[in-house]
Formats: sequence, C-alpha cells, structure tokens
Amino acid sequence: MEYEQIEIPAEGEQVTVVDGELSVPDNPIIPVIYGDGTGKDVTPAAIEVLSAAAEATGREVHWMRLYAGESARERYGENLPEETIDTLREFRVGMKGPLTTPVGSGFRSLNVALRKTLDLYANVRPTFYLDGVPSPIREPRKMDMVCFREATEDVYAGIEWEAGTPEVEQVRSFVEDEMGFEHTIHDGEVGIGLKPITEFGTKRLVRRAIDYALEHDRTYVTLVHKGNIMKYTEGAFRDWGYEVAEEEYGDEVITEDTLWEERDGKPPAGTVVVNDRIADAMLQWLILRPEDYDILALPNLNGDYISDAAGAQVGGLGIAPGSNIGDGRILAEPVHGSSPKHAGKDKVNPTAMILSGHILFDYLGWSDAGDLIIDALEDTIGDGIVTYDLERQMDGATKVATSEFAAEVAERIKSIA
Ligand code: NAD
Repeated sequence: MEYEQIEIPAEGEQVTVVDGELSVPDNPIIPVIYGDGTGKDVTPAAIEVLSAAAEATGREVHWMRLYAGESARERYGENLPEETIDTLREFRVGMKGPLTTPVGSGFRSLNVALRKTLDLYANVRPTFYLDGVPSPIREPRKMDMVCFREATEDVYAGIEWEAGTPEVEQVRSFVEDEMGFEHTIHDGEVGIGLKPITEFGTKRLVRRAIDYALEHDRTYVTLVHKGNIMKYTEGAFRDWGYEVAEEEYGDEVITEDTLWEERDGKPPAGTVVVNDRIADAMLQWLILRPEDYDILALPNLNGDYISDAAGAQVGGLGIAPGSNIGDGRILAEPVHGSSPKHAGKDKVNPTAMILSGHILFDYLGWSDAGDLIIDALEDTIGDGIVTYDLERQMDGATKVATSEFAAEVAERIKSIA
C-alpha cells in the first residue's frame, strides 16, 4: 500500500498471520508512534535499547515512524490520521509513546480511539519487580502479576451526555419517567454516562487471560469487579468470567470453590484456578498478599486504577509497561502519560517504554532478546545508574538523562550478549 506521509522502510518484512498463527520474520518492520510530551524523550531511548537486543540475538528491527497527536496535527492537520490507523492495521504489531488528552472539553482520548478502532480489546499490564528499583513496600519481589484490563467498553465506551444539553434532559426523562428511577438523580444540572459491559467483551477478555495463564504456567486468574454494587454490569462480568472458566476448558481450569471442595485448596500442577475479588478489597490484597495473585482480569476502569496501584509498588510510572492486544495484533505502550512538564528535557525514565518493547518482543516470540533487556536493566539500575525519579529514592545513586540511561542499557546488552 502507498502512503502519503509515511515512509515504509526499504528493507524489512511484515509480520503476518498464517493459519491463525503470527508469522514473525527476523527483520520485521515495526511501526512506532513517538507520542506527545515525554514520548519524544522515551521512545527514541527505547528504540536504541530494543534495537540492541534484537541485534544481539541475530535480528534486525526496521522501525517505521507513524504520526498521531501533536506530530499528526503538524503533518496532517488532524489528531489521528486514517493512514496511521491503516498502517497499524496492516503491519499488526507496533509501539507507541503516550498521547495527550485534554481534560473536560476538547477531543476524546486518542489512546482509547486507537484501542477501539483496531479492536485492541485487552490492555495487558505486567507488574513485576526489577532488582535494585526502590520501592515503598518491604518485599516488592512478591509482586509478579499481569493485569488484563478490558479496553473497549465500560465507562470508557464514550457514551455520555453533557450537562445542560437537550440530549441529557432526554436521557434523564427516559430514565426517570420510563425506566422508573424517580428521585434517583438530584434536581439541577447533571451529566450522564452509560456503562456497557457485554458478554462478548467480557468473555473474550477472560479467555485471553486464562490462555495466558496456561501458556505462561501461572496458577490464578482473578476476576476483579464491583458486582456487589453494580450487579448487572460488574456482577455480570464476574458471572460471564466464571462461565468461560467452567464451560470452555475442561479439567485444565477449575474454580476456587472446586479447589477447596475437591482438592483441599491445592491446585494440581498445570491447572489454572479462577477466583474473584471485589475491586476495593483487591487494592488491599495488592499490598498485603501480592504473592497470592498471578493474573487479574478486570473491567476497564478497575483495570486502570488497580494496575497503576500495582505499578507503584514496584517502582511507579517510570517503570510500568503496558500493551494493547487484539486477535493477532499488538500495540505496546507504557502506562504513563505524556507528562508535559518534563517534556523535551531528556529527564524522565525510559524503562516503562523499554519494558513495553519487552512485552512486544515476548508477543513476537523473542524471549531471548527480552531476557537480555531485563538483565541489562537490572545491571544498570543495580550499579546505581538511574534517572531522576529513582535517584531521589536511592542513596548514592548517579542521576543520568533519559538518553544516557538508554545508552548504558544498550551497552550492557552488547557486553552481556
Ligand atoms: P503522566 O503519567 O504523564 O505523569 C504523572 C507523573 O508521573 C509525572 O509528573 C511524573 O512524576 C510521573 N511520570 C510519568 N512518566 C514518567 C517517566 N517516564 N519517568 C518518571 N516519572 C514519570 O500523567 P498525567 O500528568 O496525569 O497525564 C499527562 C497527559 O498524558 C494527559 O494528557 C493524559 O491524558 C495523558 N495520558 C496518556 C496516556 C497514554 O498515552 N496511554 C496514559 C496516561 C495519561
């Protein structure tokens, strides 16, 4: 396909899907959106590290720059050009930096738009401890979880009406007069949003979480919901989640009730156990008993809050990676935003972006390159070479710039390999 503003690298091959399986060449073309704000600092830094890890394992990544947000406004006069979406769809795998979303008024989140348009329905956020990273928790090593956050529905669906509009008054009168919710909404101005949670959206997310647990030899998949209050949305998320566990996997997957009734609480090797927790209680279990949790499956909003809280226990936003995964496609991105006050200062931590690339490599089946990245990061941080966010929490550490940190990590990858 020909594109107006995008330069397709002269060399390199596309990642494709053959007979339902991802087919990954050793010289893939990987699209990358640098992102707004600090995206322009952390993305080139991550590219340097990821390219070094690919090369050290006999591969070569051909990065292809795409535009969204500020860079797209400059080139195309719009936030999310059609050809950015088309290219991501065609090339299947990619990486993006953070994109700014104005609060209140202005355009809607481009990140949410990308997830919805490309049907990247699972926002996957691993949270594990890197040796040497300062943590507010006594035993951060006990945290090793992966959050599977549903990414296309819930209150993020974007179905909402602004206070003072005829539309919101129409919805109010429908809710009060036709659906019988009198005396529920206070008089005066109101904004109203809808929270759709579907069987389809829930089941494909939970399936992906269980598949991941089986593939990566993890025991527990926990459905995290607020079904005691929101019975027909979050309660349904829990019930549909259990249906997947009970109806689709045979003996490989059991529920926590069965575990206690029939197996005395001890899961047989290779079996995945599905249980559930109320979202507010989950926030305390993150701190008190992180070792009891492997994979969390969550509706969109719970997933946002809980994965940020989990990330804080092992180093915070500078460390926390993420990815958006659909069927046969992935767009890796850090959990953090564009942090405008630090933008362009070559200051923030690129680790979250580098580790997002690590998830991408894992998805491509490049676990050897991924292991090198982890070793080199731990080595660098272990030597006390860190960016400002970690340096201020460590004694005797050396503060380096974003680009210097990346150069150190890339250098170590070359020497370890
Ligand atoms: P933010 O994540 O950009 O920054 C909050 C704070 O986290 C920063 O002040 C800094 O202390 C810390 N931080 C963030 N990134 C860091 C890094 N790489 N290294 C060290 N410390 C880091 O959150 P915000 O200020 O709430 O949001 C700024 C903008 O980013 C908003 O427009 C928001 O909508 C957007 N955002 C985008 C995404 C995304 O693209 N997926 C995600 C979150 C927020």
